[in-house]
Amino acid sequence: KTIDIASPARTQAILNQYGLRAKKKFGQNFLTDGNILSGIVDAAELTKEDNVVEIGPGIGGLTEYLARAAKQVLAFEIDPDMVKILAETLAPYDNVQVLEQDVLEADLKTVLSDAFGENVPVKVVANLPYYITTPILLALLQAGINWEKLVVMMQKEVADRLSAKPGTKEYGVLTVMLDYYASVSVALKVPAAAFNPAPNVDSAVVSLSPKPAENPVEEPKQLFSLVKACFAHRRKSLWNNLLQRFGKEEGTKVKLTAALEKAGIEPGIRAERLTLAEFTDLYNALKAETI
Ligand code: SAM
Repeated sequence: KTIDIASPARTQAILNQYGLRAKKKFGQNFLTDGNILSGIVDAAELTKEDNVVEIGPGIGGLTEYLARAAKQVLAFEIDPDMVKILAETLAPYDNVQVLEQDVLEADLKTVLSDAFGENVPVKVVANLPYYITTPILLALLQAGINWEKLVVMMQKEVADRLSAKPGTKEYGVLTVMLDYYASVSVALKVPAAAFNPAPNVDSAVVSLSPKPAENPVEEPKQLFSLVKACFAHRRKSLWNNLLQRFGKEEGTKVKLTAALEKAGIEPGIRAERLTLAEFTDLYNALKAETI
């Protein structure tokens, strides 16, 4: 019987065999807990029909679980040392393809359609490199790929921000952007002891499901750029952040006032109180005022 790649003993043996240690600069923390790996597969509701995209396969511990449960796995790995290891550890699986590539540099839409067919639905399952969790999430959401589930491990603090309520200190740009594209739930809480090496933060597996935007806008990027500007100085009023962004000329103030009134938003409020729907109303009202 073969021993799972992710088992604590085999993980350490593989690293020793290649004379390697987990690299901090690539956010390498390898999962060594079979229960957590099964929990991730369950959260993704994988079947043999599913095409899976993995980001950062590392030595292949999670990839092996994905390969067993899904139809095909396409994995992006930035570290050539890991890619070399994967050629050996994943050799028994003929349904895995590893790309030696920085996922943030990848043209996801093209790569996925080459691998699986044009616009074929995919599930993204990953134990993310924590130093780039937010850019990866945003890249996935904005790439225009047909994703049916996103099940990703991240540090708990970021997971809390994804599902924060308005008015809390966790509520911010990321919360609002996520709310535009997805419904969010925490599938698992994961202790540091589930990894080799143990990270110095708690972790959580978050499950995202796509939702059609309630108030879609033509250029979501512009909406998010407005949201960012409104949060630029968290402790300041919305009005001050808007002046900072658009300028303090009298004409601008008149337009801003009109837009706020139209959107039914108090200028003295702070951005952290505004819902996605209110930001969207403000965005549309500003557009109508040609700001
Ligand atoms: N999937 C493995 C596991 O669960 O044990 C490893 C997860 S480890 C937290 C993150 C992985 O992402 C590492 O293998 C790291 O080399 C890889 N990685 C880091 N930055 C990356 C990037 N920009 N593009 C692709 N992979 C990256």
